[in-house]
Amino acid sequence: MISHIMPTYGRLPVTFERGEGAWLFDEDNNRYLDALSGIAVCSLGHAHPAVHKAICEQSKKLLHTSNLYQIPAQEQLADRLVKKSGMDNVFFCNSGAEANEAAIKLARKYGHQQGIEKPAIIVMEKSFHGRTLATLSATGNSKVQQGFAPLVEGFIRVPYNDIAAVELAIKQDINIVAILVEPIQGEGGINIPADDYLNKVRGLCDEHNLLMILDEIQTGVGRTGKFLAFQHNAILPDICTMAKALGNGVPIGACLARGTAANLLTAGAHGSTFGGNPLACSAALAVLTVMDEENLIEQAKLKGNFISTAFTARLQKNTHVVDIRHKGLMIGIELDKPCAELVKLALQQHLLINVTNETTIRLLPPLIIDSQQINLLIDILSTLIDEFTK
Ligand SMILES: *Cc1c(COP(=O)(O)O)cnc(C)c1O
Repeated sequence: MISHIMPTYGRLPVTFERGEGAWLFDEDNNRYLDALSGIAVCSLGHAHPAVHKAICEQSKKLLHTSNLYQIPAQEQLADRLVKKSGMDNVFFCNSGAEANEAAIKLARKYGHQQGIEKPAIIVMEKSFHGRTLATLSATGNSKVQQGFAPLVEGFIRVPYNDIAAVELAIKQDINIVAILVEPIQGEGGINIPADDYLNKVRGLCDEHNLLMILDEIQTGVGRTGKFLAFQHNAILPDICTMAKALGNGVPIGACLARGTAANLLTAGAHGSTFGGNPLACSAALAVLTVMDEENLIEQAKLKGNFISTAFTARLQKNTHVVDIRHKGLMIGIELDKPCAELVKLALQQHLLINVTNETTIRLLPPLIIDSQQINLLIDILSTLIDEFTK
């Protein structure tokens, strides 16, 4: 059959029909181990009963009203997110890119309030912030930008994990109002900065009155072993964006703000038809409840440490393995050569993985992955890596 879908994705030749926890089942009922979670989305695994129940019950009452009216589930979700993050308030939308759009708009508003007519935001090399025009302009990957010029202006790019470069950029441009950075770069290759990098960014933002914006779309909702990755650093950003795992597959994004940044927008200044609707908020509330009840954030930390240690031991003698790095269940195994092919080879072994930045195997397993599944993952993938690099 001819596909009538725009070919924006090179799709693998497999169709999943249902899932259960970390397993996915294809049309012939073959079982696959999901070590990617739909790119950090299904952290509670597939078909989680609590999410299922929340969606079913909400859909019997209401899917959508409008942000023109009061939405109790949205209020509750904002309240939970604020308490968990230490931020002050939330704008809800439907995706990561939209959450970053809100953050970028906040930064610009902040600049204009100070009489800066062309506010600029410092962004990083190898970053990823989304596919809308503003977010692809902020993204540090020319492939994402290719063919979409003119780009949105107002982004100054510096190398990631390089505080001196940030300092220099601030000195060279009086229009800078904010710094936008991922606590760990996901698409960029699981790049983990120095332990005190975010603290130093926070320090520079304080010193120069800049807004610190953290893109926690991939790192957030427990993935790294804290609810938000900045909590490893005991700091608070001014703005923080979330999406991916927040709805466990139901689309929802959130832009959290604090202090001055929380008071920049007034009625009519920004909006979203679907953002924070009853269905999405009910799903997200269920996700947060399960994470707490099953202590999944602590689990992410323990399981991530176990997996990383096990891979390090298993691959110790393989000289083609350049680096194994992780924080919680955000795991990268970097090889000394391009390895995109491994995704297909793993699929043949009924294992779902991903490769980013050409040479880094990316694992983002669901937080509910059990010890048998973890051992299977380590077994299959270590053997594959050894065969692939032989
Ligand atoms: C996935 C991702 C985005 C984009 O989210 P979408 O929901 O695809 O728009 C932005 N930033 C980071 C760090 C991401 O991982």
